[in-house]
Amino acid sequence: MEENIIIQDVEKERYASFSFIPWWDQEKIKRSRIMVVGAGALGNEVLKNLALIGIGNIFIIDYDQIVNADLTRSVLYRQEDEGKDKTSIATERVRQINPDVNVQYLHGDVVWDIGLGLFRRMDVIIGCVDNREARLAINQACWKANKPWIDGGIDVLNGVVSVFIPGHGACYECTLTEMDYNILGAKYSCPLLRYQDLVSGKVPTTPTTAAIIAGLQVQETLKLIHQMDVPSGKGIIFNGFTYESYLVEYAEKKNCLSHEQYQPIIEINNNSSITFGQLLTIAEGYLGEGAVLELDRDIIWRLECKGCEYQNLLLRVSGKVTFEQGRCPKCNQSCHLEMRHTVTRNDKELLDLTIAQIGLPDLYVIAVKRDGEVCYLELSE
Ligand SMILES: [Zn+2]
Ligand SMILES: [Zn+2]
Repeated sequence: MEENIIIQDVEKERYASFSFIPWWDQEKIKRSRIMVVGAGALGNEVLKNLALIGIGNIFIIDYDQIVNADLTRSVLYRQEDEGKDKTSIATERVRQINPDVNVQYLHGDVVWDIGLGLFRRMDVIIGCVDNREARLAINQACWKANKPWIDGGIDVLNGVVSVFIPGHGACYECTLTEMDYNILGAKYSCPLLRYQDLVSGKVPTTPTTAAIIAGLQVQETLKLIHQMDVPSGKGIIFNGFTYESYLVEYAEKKNCLSHEQYQPIIEINNNSSITFGQLLTIAEGYLGEGAVLELDRDIIWRLECKGCEYQNLLLRVSGKVTFEQGRCPKCNQSCHLEMRHTVTRNDKELLDLTIAQIGLPDLYVIAVKRDGEVCYLELSE
């Protein structure tokens, strides 16, 4: 029997050279959906690689604008982009590199502005962030949504890539030391201070290490897309001074707070204009009367000034309230914050407000609890 040998025109076919790699499946790559969190030095290199190999769907999130100093380590940005949002420019450049790629973006903060539903719609999440709070937020979301994520970190000539798959070894929070918690705690001691405002010095980064670490992150992503073995719960340590590079296995903490999984998640075909009252009615439909909504973040219910009589019913998610808004308008003191994260029928003030009005993102997933029973509602489009 004669075999059909397909000889592709390696000069005309964009992906022809990949077809010589036996395990490479361009269709799988085209179908995949990858979220890139952070469009700085690492994010630029990651995005460039994802575009080159023809990842079909890319979602970018970042809250920053391009500054002059980004131009030494960000292959996607140009002098004239200064002052523009990183996400919109990165999106434009990815499309230029490869028009086959469907790119979407969100200009915002991964900690507050992305609903869990978006994580659920991804195959792999790539972390290109420079702080523990964002890593912790990505980690918790990935565990809840049962999605793998690949963290990258760079420090001058050194770097580390960590692969985390729910149910397969340690998560990012398992790797945190007491010092890490102290640094995170500086933020939690004052809920209205955003992490960005607390960061004093940036970690020095070079485009060379960013390229190496981002290259490894995308390679691990490729392996995940092809169902190949990846070092889950492990870190790939790269030492650019000595080349003593090695794998380290992180110890899994049994009582780690990040290991919560959201199951089952029920998509309720509604959107962020649904009110808390309507949501409670749906919740009662699943778990019966007395069902309680439980958020994974605090609502700042009320501001109270200890210095004067000032009180204000705020009803807004803590990440959406600025430090300035937390001050008394009469005597300028920091107000006492009354915070809650559960909603019941008794919370009359909130029942007519929509989830968007209090600052929750699209595709937010809300827990419903009653007598030890639990289910999760996704506010789908
Ligand atoms: Zn853990
Ligand atoms: Zn006051």
